[in-house]
Amino acid sequence: MAKRDYYEVLGVSKDASDAEIKKAYRKLAIKYHPDRNPGDKEAEEKFKEAAEAYDVLHDPQKRQQYDQFGFNAPGGGFNGSPFGAGGFSMDDIFSMFGDVFGGRGGFGGFSGGSGHAQTRKYRGSDLRLKVKLTLQEVATGVTKKFKVRKDVACPDCHGTGAKNGAGVETCPNCHGSGVEIRTQQSIFGMMQTQTTCHVCGGEGTIVKEKCPKCGGDGVVKGDEVVEINIPAGVEDGMVLNVPGKGNAGKHNGINGDIKVYIEVENSDIFIRDKQDLIYNLLLDIPTAVLGGTVEIPTLDGKSTKIKIEPGTQPGKTLRLRGKGLPAVNGYGYGVGDIIVQISVYIPKTLSHEEKKAIESFRNSDNFKGDNSTKETIFQKFRNLFN
Ligand SMILES: [Zn+2]
Ligand SMILES: [Zn+2]
Repeated sequence: MAKRDYYEVLGVSKDASDAEIKKAYRKLAIKYHPDRNPGDKEAEEKFKEAAEAYDVLHDPQKRQQYDQFGFNAPGGGFNGSPFGAGGFSMDDIFSMFGDVFGGRGGFGGFSGGSGHAQTRKYRGSDLRLKVKLTLQEVATGVTKKFKVRKDVACPDCHGTGAKNGAGVETCPNCHGSGVEIRTQQSIFGMMQTQTTCHVCGGEGTIVKEKCPKCGGDGVVKGDEVVEINIPAGVEDGMVLNVPGKGNAGKHNGINGDIKVYIEVENSDIFIRDKQDLIYNLLLDIPTAVLGGTVEIPTLDGKSTKIKIEPGTQPGKTLRLRGKGLPAVNGYGYGVGDIIVQISVYIPKTLSHEEKKAIESFRNSDNFKGDNSTKETIFQKFRNLFN
Protein backbone atom coordinates (compact mmCIF):
# COMPACT_ATOMS: atom_id res chain seq x y z
CA MET A 1 0.00 0.00 0.00
CA ALA A 2 1.40 3.38 -0.96
CA LYS A 3 2.07 5.64 1.96
CA ARG A 4 -0.19 8.65 2.19
CA ASP A 5 1.05 12.08 3.10
CA TYR A 6 0.84 12.54 6.88
CA TYR A 7 -1.08 15.80 6.59
CA GLU A 8 -3.52 14.11 4.26
CA VAL A 9 -3.92 11.22 6.68
CA LEU A 10 -4.88 13.55 9.50
CA GLY A 11 -6.83 15.85 7.19
CA VAL A 12 -5.03 18.99 8.32
CA SER A 13 -3.21 21.72 6.42
CA LYS A 14 0.58 21.96 6.24
CA ASP A 15 0.59 24.86 8.65
CA ALA A 16 -1.72 23.21 11.17
CA SER A 17 -0.99 24.03 14.79
CA ASP A 18 -0.05 21.38 17.29
CA ALA A 19 -3.49 21.62 18.84
CA GLU A 20 -5.16 21.08 15.46
CA ILE A 21 -2.98 18.05 14.80
CA LYS A 22 -3.77 16.58 18.17
CA LYS A 23 -7.46 17.21 17.73
CA ALA A 24 -7.50 15.65 14.25
CA TYR A 25 -5.60 12.63 15.47
CA ARG A 26 -7.83 12.18 18.47
CA LYS A 27 -10.90 12.20 16.24
CA LEU A 28 -9.46 9.54 13.95
CA ALA A 29 -8.14 7.47 16.83
CA ILE A 30 -11.56 7.38 18.40
CA LYS A 31 -13.28 6.63 15.09
CA TYR A 32 -10.95 3.76 14.16
CA HIS A 33 -10.22 2.56 17.68
CA PRO A 34 -10.06 -1.25 17.69
CA ASP A 35 -12.49 -1.43 20.60
CA ARG A 36 -15.10 0.21 18.41
CA ASN A 37 -14.26 -1.82 15.34
CA PRO A 38 -13.54 -5.31 16.56
CA GLY A 39 -12.08 -7.54 13.86
CA ASP A 40 -12.13 -4.76 11.27
CA LYS A 41 -8.72 -4.93 9.58
CA GLU A 42 -9.26 -1.79 7.56
CA ALA A 43 -10.09 0.22 10.65
CA GLU A 44 -7.00 -1.16 12.33
CA GLU A 45 -4.83 -0.06 9.39
CA LYS A 46 -6.42 3.39 9.46
CA PHE A 47 -5.82 3.56 13.21
CA LYS A 48 -2.15 2.70 12.76
CA GLU A 49 -1.75 5.07 9.82
CA ALA A 50 -3.14 7.91 11.91
CA ALA A 51 -0.90 7.02 14.84
CA GLU A 52 2.18 7.06 12.64
CA ALA A 53 1.24 10.41 11.14
CA TYR A 54 0.63 11.83 14.60
CA ASP A 55 3.91 10.45 15.90
CA VAL A 56 5.78 12.44 13.27
CA LEU A 57 3.71 15.61 13.10
CA HIS A 58 3.37 16.28 16.81
CA ASP A 59 7.13 16.13 17.30
CA PRO A 60 8.58 19.46 16.09
CA GLN A 61 11.90 17.94 15.06
CA LYS A 62 10.39 15.01 13.17
CA ARG A 63 7.83 17.29 11.60
CA GLN A 64 10.51 19.64 10.33
CA GLN A 65 12.44 16.72 8.87
CA TYR A 66 9.31 15.37 7.26
CA ASP A 67 8.46 18.78 5.79
CA GLN A 68 11.93 19.03 4.35
CA PHE A 69 12.61 15.51 3.14
CA GLY A 70 9.27 13.71 3.03
CA PHE A 71 9.38 10.02 3.92
CA ASN A 72 13.06 9.78 3.04
CA ALA A 73 14.41 11.93 5.83
CA PRO A 74 18.01 11.27 6.84
CA GLY A 75 18.64 8.73 9.55
CA GLY A 76 16.40 6.06 8.08
CA GLY A 77 13.47 8.27 7.20
CA PHE A 78 9.96 7.47 8.15
CA ASN A 79 9.52 4.34 6.09
CA GLY A 80 10.97 2.27 8.86
CA SER A 81 9.37 3.33 12.09
CA PRO A 82 11.39 3.52 15.30
CA PHE A 83 9.73 0.27 16.27
CA GLY A 84 11.57 -1.89 13.76
CA ALA A 85 10.62 -3.57 10.55
CA GLY A 86 7.12 -4.47 11.62
CA GLY A 87 6.13 -0.84 12.02
CA PHE A 88 3.85 0.18 14.80
CA SER A 89 2.16 -2.42 16.89
CA MET A 90 -1.03 -1.69 18.74
CA ASP A 91 0.84 -1.85 22.02
CA ASP A 92 3.29 0.78 20.85
CA ILE A 93 0.44 3.07 19.97
CA PHE A 94 -1.26 2.64 23.30
CA SER A 95 1.93 3.16 25.21
CA MET A 96 3.02 6.17 23.18
CA PHE A 97 -0.20 8.00 22.97
CA GLY A 98 -1.77 7.18 26.26
CA ASP A 99 -1.96 10.90 26.88
CA VAL A 100 -4.25 11.43 23.93
CA PHE A 101 -6.71 8.93 25.29
CA GLY A 102 -6.52 10.69 28.58
CA GLY A 103 -5.02 7.93 30.65
CA ARG A 104 -1.77 6.39 31.63
CA GLY A 105 -1.51 2.89 30.25
CA GLY A 106 -5.02 2.42 29.06
CA PHE A 107 -6.88 -0.79 28.55
CA GLY A 108 -5.85 -4.16 27.26
CA GLY A 109 -8.63 -5.91 25.46
CA PHE A 110 -11.68 -7.54 26.88
CA SER A 111 -11.88 -10.00 29.67
CA GLY A 112 -14.68 -11.90 31.22
CA GLY A 113 -16.00 -15.26 30.11
CA SER A 114 -19.13 -16.19 28.26
CA GLY A 115 -22.32 -14.99 29.81
CA HIS A 116 -20.61 -12.05 31.45
CA ALA A 117 -20.66 -8.48 30.41
CA GLN A 118 -17.64 -7.42 28.36
CA THR A 119 -15.82 -5.61 31.09
CA ARG A 120 -12.23 -4.55 30.70
CA LYS A 121 -8.99 -4.89 32.57
CA TYR A 122 -6.44 -2.19 33.04
CA ARG A 123 -3.16 -2.63 31.23
CA GLY A 124 0.04 -1.24 32.69
CA SER A 125 2.08 0.98 30.41
CA ASP A 126 5.27 -0.15 28.71
CA LEU A 127 8.72 0.73 29.94
CA ARG A 128 11.67 1.63 27.78
CA LEU A 129 15.25 0.66 28.38
CA LYS A 130 18.38 1.35 26.43
CA VAL A 131 21.14 -1.21 26.43
CA LYS A 132 24.67 -0.72 25.13
CA LEU A 133 26.46 -3.77 23.78
CA THR A 134 29.96 -4.50 22.60
CA LEU A 135 30.51 -6.50 19.41
CA GLN A 136 31.70 -9.38 21.57
CA GLU A 137 28.35 -9.40 23.35
CA VAL A 138 26.55 -9.25 20.03
CA ALA A 139 28.52 -12.28 18.85
CA THR A 140 27.51 -14.49 21.76
CA GLY A 141 24.27 -12.97 22.97
CA VAL A 142 24.09 -11.81 26.56
CA THR A 143 21.85 -11.68 29.60
CA LYS A 144 21.66 -8.28 31.25
CA LYS A 145 20.16 -7.46 34.62
CA PHE A 146 18.42 -4.18 35.27
CA LYS A 147 16.95 -2.74 38.40
CA VAL A 148 13.76 -1.20 37.12
CA ARG A 149 11.60 1.36 38.89
CA LYS A 150 8.03 0.59 38.00
CA ASP A 151 4.44 0.07 39.09
CA VAL A 152 4.10 -3.17 40.99
CA ALA A 153 1.11 -4.81 42.64
CA CYS A 154 0.42 -3.19 46.02
CA PRO A 155 1.70 -5.53 48.74
CA ASP A 156 -1.00 -4.49 51.23
CA CYS A 157 -4.02 -5.35 49.13
CA HIS A 158 -2.29 -7.80 46.78
CA GLY A 159 -3.17 -5.63 43.83
CA THR A 160 -6.90 -5.59 44.41
CA GLY A 161 -7.04 -1.99 45.64
CA ALA A 162 -9.44 -2.99 48.43
CA LYS A 163 -8.74 -2.39 52.10
CA ASN A 164 -8.40 -5.47 54.33
CA GLY A 165 -9.76 -7.78 51.71
CA ALA A 166 -12.99 -5.81 51.64
CA GLY A 167 -13.55 -7.00 48.11
CA VAL A 168 -15.42 -5.44 45.26
CA GLU A 169 -19.01 -4.74 44.43
CA THR A 170 -20.87 -4.26 41.21
CA CYS A 171 -20.56 -0.73 39.90
CA PRO A 172 -23.79 1.10 40.71
CA ASN A 173 -23.48 3.34 37.67
CA CYS A 174 -23.21 0.75 34.89
CA HIS A 175 -24.54 -2.22 36.85
CA GLY A 176 -21.48 -4.21 35.95
CA SER A 177 -21.50 -3.72 32.18
CA GLY A 178 -18.51 -1.35 32.21
CA VAL A 179 -20.20 0.97 29.74
CA GLU A 180 -22.72 3.73 29.95
CA ILE A 181 -25.15 4.84 27.30
CA ARG A 182 -25.71 8.52 26.86
CA THR A 183 -28.71 9.82 24.99
CA GLN A 184 -28.33 13.22 23.42
CA GLN A 185 -30.53 15.43 21.37
CA SER A 186 -28.86 16.28 18.07
CA ILE A 187 -29.89 17.71 14.72
CA PHE A 188 -30.38 14.14 13.51
CA GLY A 189 -32.71 13.35 16.37
CA MET A 190 -31.95 11.41 19.50
CA MET A 191 -28.46 9.92 19.41
CA GLN A 192 -27.17 7.22 21.67
CA THR A 193 -23.49 6.94 22.33
CA GLN A 194 -21.81 4.23 24.31
CA THR A 195 -18.82 5.20 26.40
CA THR A 196 -16.68 3.63 29.07
CA CYS A 197 -18.26 3.95 32.50
CA HIS A 198 -16.71 6.93 34.22
CA VAL A 199 -17.23 5.47 37.67
CA CYS A 200 -15.51 2.10 37.34
CA GLY A 201 -13.36 2.87 34.32
CA GLY A 202 -14.87 -0.07 32.42
CA GLU A 203 -14.14 -2.75 34.96
CA GLY A 204 -17.78 -3.19 36.01
CA THR A 205 -16.81 -3.35 39.66
CA ILE A 206 -15.58 -0.91 42.26
CA VAL A 207 -13.69 -1.59 45.47
CA LYS A 208 -15.84 -1.29 48.58
CA GLU A 209 -13.20 0.44 50.64
CA LYS A 210 -9.97 1.76 49.12
CA CYS A 211 -6.64 0.42 50.30
CA PRO A 212 -4.86 3.35 52.00
CA LYS A 213 -1.42 2.38 50.72
CA CYS A 214 -2.22 2.51 47.00
CA GLY A 215 -5.31 4.70 47.15
CA GLY A 216 -7.39 1.96 45.57
CA ASP A 217 -5.33 1.58 42.40
CA GLY A 218 -3.77 -1.70 43.43
CA VAL A 219 -0.35 -0.55 42.23
CA VAL A 220 2.52 1.26 43.94
CA LYS A 221 6.02 2.28 42.82
CA GLY A 222 8.57 -0.40 43.42
CA ASP A 223 11.83 -1.86 42.19
CA GLU A 224 12.24 -5.06 40.33
CA VAL A 225 15.34 -6.71 38.99
CA VAL A 226 14.60 -7.95 35.51
CA GLU A 227 16.81 -10.22 33.48
CA ILE A 228 16.77 -9.57 29.79
CA ASN A 229 18.10 -12.12 27.36
CA ILE A 230 19.53 -10.44 24.32
CA PRO A 231 19.96 -12.88 21.47
CA ALA A 232 23.17 -13.00 19.46
CA GLY A 233 23.39 -11.00 16.24
CA VAL A 234 21.29 -7.97 17.18
CA GLU A 235 21.93 -4.68 15.41
CA ASP A 236 22.11 -1.08 16.50
CA GLY A 237 18.63 0.45 16.54
CA MET A 238 16.71 -2.80 17.03
CA VAL A 239 13.98 -2.89 19.63
CA LEU A 240 13.32 -6.03 21.62
CA ASN A 241 9.98 -6.54 23.27
CA VAL A 242 9.97 -8.24 26.64
CA PRO A 243 6.32 -9.03 27.27
CA GLY A 244 4.79 -8.69 30.71
CA LYS A 245 7.76 -7.02 32.39
CA GLY A 246 6.51 -3.45 32.21
CA ASN A 247 4.26 -1.61 34.65
CA ALA A 248 1.67 -3.66 36.48
CA GLY A 249 -1.92 -2.95 35.48
CA LYS A 250 -4.26 -1.51 38.09
CA HIS A 251 -6.44 -3.99 39.99
CA ASN A 252 -4.35 -6.99 39.03
CA GLY A 253 -4.74 -6.10 35.39
CA ILE A 254 -2.44 -6.90 32.53
CA ASN A 255 1.26 -6.05 32.80
CA GLY A 256 2.83 -3.78 30.21
CA ASP A 257 5.96 -4.76 28.31
CA ILE A 258 9.55 -3.59 28.37
CA LYS A 259 10.89 -2.25 25.08
CA VAL A 260 14.63 -2.66 24.94
CA TYR A 261 16.44 -0.30 22.59
CA ILE A 262 19.67 -1.81 21.35
CA GLU A 263 22.78 0.25 20.92
CA VAL A 264 25.96 -1.38 19.65
CA GLU A 265 29.25 0.30 20.46
CA ASN A 266 31.74 0.84 17.68
CA SER A 267 34.70 -1.48 17.84
CA ASP A 268 38.31 -0.33 17.60
CA ILE A 269 39.16 -3.45 15.66
CA PHE A 270 36.33 -4.21 13.29
CA ILE A 271 33.86 -2.38 11.12
CA ARG A 272 30.56 -4.16 11.10
CA ASP A 273 28.78 -4.82 7.82
CA LYS A 274 25.60 -6.61 8.91
CA GLN A 275 26.90 -10.08 9.78
CA ASP A 276 30.39 -9.56 8.37
CA LEU A 277 33.26 -7.84 10.11
CA ILE A 278 35.77 -5.88 8.11
CA TYR A 279 39.32 -5.94 9.43
CA ASN A 280 41.97 -3.62 8.04
CA LEU A 281 45.28 -5.42 7.86
CA LEU A 282 48.30 -3.24 7.38
CA LEU A 283 51.18 -5.33 6.00
CA ASP A 284 54.79 -4.31 6.10
CA ILE A 285 56.53 -4.23 2.74
CA PRO A 286 58.71 -7.35 3.28
CA THR A 287 55.69 -9.50 4.25
CA ALA A 288 53.65 -8.21 1.29
CA VAL A 289 56.53 -8.92 -1.06
CA LEU A 290 57.97 -12.12 0.39
CA GLY A 291 54.87 -13.61 2.00
CA GLY A 292 54.52 -14.76 5.59
CA THR A 293 52.07 -15.44 8.37
CA VAL A 294 50.06 -12.86 10.30
CA GLU A 295 47.58 -13.06 13.16
CA ILE A 296 44.07 -11.74 12.76
CA PRO A 297 42.07 -11.01 15.93
CA THR A 298 38.66 -12.67 16.28
CA LEU A 299 35.67 -11.85 18.45
CA ASP A 300 36.14 -14.85 20.73
CA GLY A 301 39.32 -13.18 22.02
CA LYS A 302 41.61 -15.67 20.35
CA SER A 303 43.16 -15.03 16.98
CA THR A 304 43.57 -16.83 13.70
CA LYS A 305 46.76 -17.16 11.71
CA ILE A 306 46.53 -16.48 8.02
CA LYS A 307 49.06 -17.04 5.30
CA ILE A 308 50.11 -14.12 3.16
CA GLU A 309 51.16 -15.14 -0.34
CA PRO A 310 54.33 -13.63 -1.77
CA GLY A 311 53.46 -10.63 -3.94
CA THR A 312 50.25 -9.73 -2.09
CA GLN A 313 48.75 -6.52 -3.46
CA PRO A 314 47.21 -3.73 -1.40
CA GLY A 315 43.42 -3.85 -1.83
CA LYS A 316 43.36 -7.64 -1.76
CA THR A 317 40.70 -9.13 0.49
CA LEU A 318 40.64 -12.44 2.28
CA ARG A 319 37.64 -14.06 3.90
CA LEU A 320 37.70 -15.91 7.20
CA ARG A 321 34.50 -17.86 6.86
CA GLY A 322 32.25 -18.22 9.87
CA LYS A 323 34.25 -15.82 12.05
CA GLY A 324 31.69 -13.03 11.83
CA LEU A 325 28.35 -12.59 13.56
CA PRO A 326 25.43 -15.00 13.81
CA ALA A 327 21.98 -14.26 12.43
CA VAL A 328 19.53 -12.85 14.94
CA ASN A 329 16.71 -15.28 15.73
CA GLY A 330 17.05 -16.95 12.36
CA TYR A 331 16.82 -13.83 10.20
CA GLY A 332 19.68 -13.65 7.73
CA TYR A 333 22.11 -16.45 6.98
CA GLY A 334 24.25 -18.73 9.16
CA VAL A 335 27.29 -16.92 10.49
CA GLY A 336 29.06 -14.03 8.78
CA ASP A 337 32.75 -13.75 7.91
CA ILE A 338 35.71 -11.66 8.84
CA ILE A 339 36.79 -9.85 5.69
CA VAL A 340 40.46 -8.98 5.82
CA GLN A 341 41.17 -5.93 3.75
CA ILE A 342 44.84 -5.60 3.03
CA SER A 343 46.85 -2.44 2.72
CA VAL A 344 50.62 -2.03 2.77
CA TYR A 345 52.50 0.31 5.01
CA ILE A 346 54.99 2.61 3.36
CA PRO A 347 57.52 4.04 5.85
CA LYS A 348 57.60 7.82 5.98
CA THR A 349 61.29 8.10 6.78
CA LEU A 350 64.17 5.77 5.99
CA SER A 351 67.64 5.23 7.39
CA HIS A 352 70.59 5.70 5.11
CA GLU A 353 70.91 1.94 4.51
CA GLU A 354 67.20 1.48 3.86
CA LYS A 355 67.25 4.33 1.39
CA LYS A 356 70.20 2.81 -0.44
CA ALA A 357 68.49 -0.59 -0.61
CA ILE A 358 65.23 0.81 -1.99
CA GLU A 359 67.13 3.11 -4.36
CA SER A 360 68.76 0.09 -5.93
CA PHE A 361 65.32 -1.10 -7.15
CA ARG A 362 64.41 2.19 -8.75
CA ASN A 363 65.35 1.17 -12.24
CA SER A 364 64.04 -2.39 -12.00
CA ASP A 365 61.19 -2.98 -14.47
CA ASN A 366 59.98 -5.73 -12.17
CA PHE A 367 59.14 -3.10 -9.56
CA LYS A 368 57.16 -0.89 -11.92
CA GLY A 369 54.04 -2.98 -12.26
CA ASP A 370 51.87 -2.95 -15.34
CA ASN A 371 48.29 -2.18 -16.24
CA SER A 372 47.10 -5.69 -15.41
CA THR A 373 48.24 -5.15 -11.82
CA LYS A 374 46.42 -1.83 -11.57
CA GLU A 375 43.33 -3.43 -13.05
CA THR A 376 43.37 -6.19 -10.45
CA ILE A 377 43.69 -3.80 -7.53
CA PHE A 378 40.86 -1.67 -8.80
CA GLN A 379 38.64 -4.69 -9.39
CA LYS A 380 39.27 -6.08 -5.93
CA PHE A 381 38.53 -2.78 -4.32
CA ARG A 382 35.29 -2.42 -6.24
CA ASN A 383 34.21 -5.97 -5.41
CA LEU A 384 34.47 -5.15 -1.75
CA PHE A 385 31.68 -2.67 -2.06
CA ASN A 386 29.41 -4.70 -4.31
ZN1 LIG B 1 -3.21 -1.41 48.06
ZN1 LIG C 1 -19.26 1.24 36.06
